[in-house]
Amino acid sequence: MEALKARIRELEKQILRGDRYKCLICMDSYTMPLTSIQCWHVHCEECWLRTLGNKKLCPQCNTITSPGDLRRVYL
Ligand SMILES: [Zn+2]
Ligand SMILES: [Zn+2]
Repeated sequence: MEALKARIRELEKQILRGDRYKCLICMDSYTMPLTSIQCWHVHCEECWLRTLGNKKLCPQCNTITSPGDLRRVYL
């Protein structure tokens, strides 16, 4: 669990540095960013849930993902 938290903090720093402040799915800035512990891609909550509602795959890389794999990212 600690490793996961460290990984999420690392992601938060990357996002704040501005590398990818925008969601690649809706091309908007994140309002409620979530990351998957399967592939560590970050999308907004809406985009994740919309995609997972159809098929249990990451919208960016098609890694199998379930809603339970999503973790909140705090920016
Ligand atoms: Zn989005
Ligand atoms: Zn992914």
